[in-house]
Amino acid sequence: MTIAPKTNFAEGVSGDGLPGAIGHTPLIRLRRASDVTGCTILGKAEFMNPGGSVKDRAALAMIEAAEAAGTLKPGGTIVEGTAGNTGIGLTLVANARGYRCIIVMPETQSREKIDFLRMIGADLRLVPAKPYRDPGNYVHVSRRIAEETGAFWANQFDNTENREGHRRTTGAEIWAQTGGRIDAFTCACGTGGTLAGVGMALKAHNPAVRIILADPDGSALYDWVTTGELKSAGSSITEGIGQGRVTGNLEGAPIDGAVRIGDAAMLEQVFDLMIHEGLSIGGSAGINVAAAIAVAREMGPGHTIATILCDGAARYQSKLFNPEFLASKNLPAPPWMLAG
Ligand code: PMP
Repeated sequence: MTIAPKTNFAEGVSGDGLPGAIGHTPLIRLRRASDVTGCTILGKAEFMNPGGSVKDRAALAMIEAAEAAGTLKPGGTIVEGTAGNTGIGLTLVANARGYRCIIVMPETQSREKIDFLRMIGADLRLVPAKPYRDPGNYVHVSRRIAEETGAFWANQFDNTENREGHRRTTGAEIWAQTGGRIDAFTCACGTGGTLAGVGMALKAHNPAVRIILADPDGSALYDWVTTGELKSAGSSITEGIGQGRVTGNLEGAPIDGAVRIGDAAMLEQVFDLMIHEGLSIGGSAGINVAAAIAVAREMGPGHTIATILCDGAARYQSKLFNPEFLASKNLPAPPWMLAG
């Protein structure tokens, strides 16, 4: 493998191809959220990563750590269980660096992510959605494939290179972009890599920054943070977030509180940001923004709260922007799509 000399390039030019184009995303002031709360609410535009989500960062961090450790050899194969976005990030980086990817994903995830993974050449294995305790759960299937084939298992849930990547990049960027003027950070959890990594980075600079979990219905983490017990009820149409266990990435993470956000409140943010601010975001980003508003209301005017815009709306067109799907879940459709 040849490493291109980065120093010969001007700032903003990625000398090592796609991997160098991951990260360095804008931090966008969300006008309406800021206006209604009297706070400054900032969204980190992770949908602008090459693979379209925050998970490009975790994918690159896990691959680079495995390369350095020798567990991923030139021409090798990467296996991962994913709701889709990590699979997209891994496959793009793998394509750029000459690896193969086997991606195991629950068949319930959006058609758009499935199509995208096929388009970029992932060896995609769709499996029925099963709880984590079931051996047929996508995470366990991916582990077994890696064991049987001798491939590298990325293991994003328990591989702490995931949160380490976010500590070094996402967290460091937010601190630098805000000039340290940040009072709180809200973030939903799938693996917990983003919440833990950003939380660790911000707390290292200023332990007073409040790190708040944004949790959808059906996830056990809200109760874990607020009562110490893993308990869950209900369900959510969001993808990639919600968790029933304390993952390796969540262990020891600095979390000060939690907010629970239902699907209706999530959709309100997704629709509002789209039609009033031109921001096209997915469901987990909607939960994150709703949580930032809740935290801003609790803290009072004058505070700065940052959050993550994890991925974009186009990834969920067939769900979040499909009036029939939404009606089947008793949820409101985008008002501008109902006319005519
Ligand atoms: N939002 C989306 C859309 C995702 O795909 C994921 C990852 N599954 C997350 C949020 C959660 O990020 P993390 O794994 O870092 O907790």
